[in-house]
Amino acid sequence: MRDYEREKRGILMKKYHKNGQLETLICNCCGKKLAVDHGILREGAISVDYTWDYFSEKDGQIHRFDLCEECYDELIGGFKIPVDIKEQTEYL
Ligand SMILES: [Zn+2]
Repeated sequence: MRDYEREKRGILMKKYHKNGQLETLICNCCGKKLAVDHGILREGAISVDYTWDYFSEKDGQIHRFDLCEECYDELIGGFKIPVDIKEQTEYL
């Protein structure tokens, strides 16, 4: 995929208003449009924004995507070793 196509897709998946408020968020896996109300995401989702480094095959590439909670559960359900889960005790 060429860079500008990736950019175009990125904009489609996560769309912002001119004032910087989140307008649309779409799960990259299932394509579901998630509920956004006044710039605030109203359902569970996980955002990945990762810069691959020198020791990877993708040196210098930034990969970003969003997953809805169902797709996340399905993804981690396939893990051999479960996700480490802790309860949040401190609120930042
Ligand atoms: Zn999904």
